[in-house]
Amino acid sequence: MTQAPALDPLAAENEALRARLAEAEETLRAIRNGEVDALVVSGSDGDHVFTLQGADYPYRVLVEEMSEGAIILTAEGVIFYANRRLAEMLKTPLEQVIGSACDRWIAPADAAPFRALLNRTSAPSRQRMELTLRASDGTNVPCYLSVSCLLIGEVLGSFCVVATDLTEQKRSEAILAAEKLARLILDQTAEAIVVCDNASRIIRASAVAYRLCGEDPLDQPFERAFALERPDGAGVSLADLLRVGEQRRVEAKLERRGEFFHLVVSVGPLVGPLGDKLGSVVTLTDITQRKAAEEQIERLAFYDPLTRLPNRRRLLERLHQAVETGARSRRPGALMFIDLDNFKVLNDTLGHDVGDLLLQQAAGRLLDCVRESDTVARLGGDEFVVMLEGLGERAEAAAAKAQDIGVKVLAALNEPYQLADHRCHSTASLGITLIADHQTPVEDLLKQADLAMYQAKAAGRNTLRFFNPDMQAALEARSALETQLRDGLRDGQFLLYYQAQVDDAGSLTGAEALVRWQHPQRGLITPYEFIPLAEETGLILPLGHWVLESACGQLAAWAHQPQRAHLTLAVNVSARQFRDPGFVDQVRTALAASGADPHRLKLELTESLLLEDVTDTIAKMTALKSLGLGFSLDDFGTGYSSLSYLKRLPLDQLKIDQSFVRDALDNPNDAAIVRAILALAPNLNLTVIAEGVETQAQRAFLIENGCRAFQGYLFGRPGPAAALP
Ligand code: C2E
Ligand code: MG
Ligand code: MG
Repeated sequence: MTQAPALDPLAAENEALRARLAEAEETLRAIRNGEVDALVVSGSDGDHVFTLQGADYPYRVLVEEMSEGAIILTAEGVIFYANRRLAEMLKTPLEQVIGSACDRWIAPADAAPFRALLNRTSAPSRQRMELTLRASDGTNVPCYLSVSCLLIGEVLGSFCVVATDLTEQKRSEAILAAEKLARLILDQTAEAIVVCDNASRIIRASAVAYRLCGEDPLDQPFERAFALERPDGAGVSLADLLRVGEQRRVEAKLERRGEFFHLVVSVGPLVGPLGDKLGSVVTLTDITQRKAAEEQIERLAFYDPLTRLPNRRRLLERLHQAVETGARSRRPGALMFIDLDNFKVLNDTLGHDVGDLLLQQAAGRLLDCVRESDTVARLGGDEFVVMLEGLGERAEAAAAKAQDIGVKVLAALNEPYQLADHRCHSTASLGITLIADHQTPVEDLLKQADLAMYQAKAAGRNTLRFFNPDMQAALEARSALETQLRDGLRDGQFLLYYQAQVDDAGSLTGAEALVRWQHPQRGLITPYEFIPLAEETGLILPLGHWVLESACGQLAAWAHQPQRAHLTLAVNVSARQFRDPGFVDQVRTALAASGADPHRLKLELTESLLLEDVTDTIAKMTALKSLGLGFSLDDFGTGYSSLSYLKRLPLDQLKIDQSFVRDALDNPNDAAIVRAILALAPNLNLTVIAEGVETQAQRAFLIENGCRAFQGYLFGRPGPAAALP
């Protein structure tokens, strides 16, 4: 207050001063109104001292045109002069600015400080402050003010205010601050953040991203700087992720000098203020530790810490899956319950540490006995469970396989153990149940296997038992049959029967050789009873070899009998036999050794054999054909042969399956199939023989449709060679 007495109302006491002030104001008003054209206005000091003189036009122009806003205020704070720039800053026509109270243009918060500033301003000193003006449209205009006292004549009482518009400066300061902040964030964030342009090139990266990349990622394509891999091994491309156009999160793996990082990658578009897409922001969150922790939790929850085998919980989970997939694939599996015999005794006498060693070694041996796709689990104590999946097409075959594996498991567990300093022996009891019907709840399957295991214990331990008694009996019968089959082969219990093949005139053209087993106790056994087992066990190889040699011997013998010399002989060959790498040589040797004419020999193949590995089949058939023999496709119509196969294979004859012949007269579908085969064959250059012809009516039907070759009870049952008509 003391510095600016002119502003103080008390100063009004000074009459003289008041009068001069009034006079000066009058003069100024006159200037404003253009009534006066000579006036000297001079500032008190330095920078903004200027002199306005009505006649001194250039000064006026200077002030009018300067890039800062300029105002002259009366002592009361009324604007009586303002330049154009100021009017612009206030977004108000100059006429409305002049004459207005300057308070009106000052942001409320700055009004009091501004007043105080004016009061502090005295002739020799200039005051400065930052302040916000408020334009007429309400926008804020940040300004830098410089305020001086004006001496008009000698009168002190007006102020010259020069306002510098700071809007632009403030804006660029704000941008700089944002840049700085962004840099700070990128330097200090714990995340790896990467900013890419629209071409997936990295334009910014956080410090962690630099570390994760291992080199300077700037300017590199994202995929090169971060060669991410999805869990399925596929690469991660930024473009693919962004194509969806929204925020995406994927899990990925990154390898950096042999070290693996698990990352969650989030990608989002980087959108400018006008909605234009500037690029993308990728955040790579390192979840390696979390993953490790999850795995650890999983291990604890689902695995037995001692043996590292799946525990009961895990087993049940897999069992559920196995039952489901089994239901889909229809291939039965098996569940084995294994309990170590006398484990408790060993544990009590040698101590738990030694017991643990035994369990660990037993676990290892179990794993060695099964395929990788099977499951070995430890239920607790000395109880293990093995789950075998997809064992075979039929329950019986699956049971046989499970039994084989069970025997292997028992043998493996029977091997001596070296447990620290102790050499020990242990045996096990094993129960098996089949996973076949896909209806039994998994808990029940476990109970069944457990029960079977108790039966094995009751049967004296160190053995295995099946839960299903029928299965047990069937398996026992089967293994007995297998032994007998071996003995039978060794002891020459097999013989060949021959069934006539005739032409449409009823003349004998040849025969089919059909094997029989002369069982010492059971008498003559048909091939239906032993061929499938011989195929499964591989005994079909020696058996088939014997059949081939005998058949060739028979052909050679016929060659010396004038009425039989023209006969052909058909021999059945099973798939397993045909696939044997030595088969072609075997046939060649059999023919050579017997001296039989290859052109009289016909091999009967089945459709199933043709479906697998067609290239190999064609190669073998071609090699055999070059020896001179022919091929007939047995049981034709029951398999899945496609016409394209038939065309590619070097066949000579189709043998219409007996089921069609049997029903052709009653069932129009079967009749149609027979007709179709007969119509089709000539086009493929094949002859046709019908098997299972039992009645004259069947023969007539076949002849009527073009069939010229027949086999069946109507012409003779299979019997010894001598019995052929
Ligand atoms: P397959 O080759 O289709 O033989 C025809 C079967 O039908 C023979 O049965 C035969 O006795 C029977 N059969 C013939 N005519 C009639 C008829 O008019 N009515 C009826 N209901 N049946 C008739 P078999 O001898 O019991 O042979 C059964 C199957 O065993 C054969 O079917 C063949 O697949 C297989 N097989 C026989 N011998 C051998 C052999 O040496 N090796 C191989 N791998 N399989 C053989
Ligand atoms: Mg046959
Ligand atoms: Mg047949």
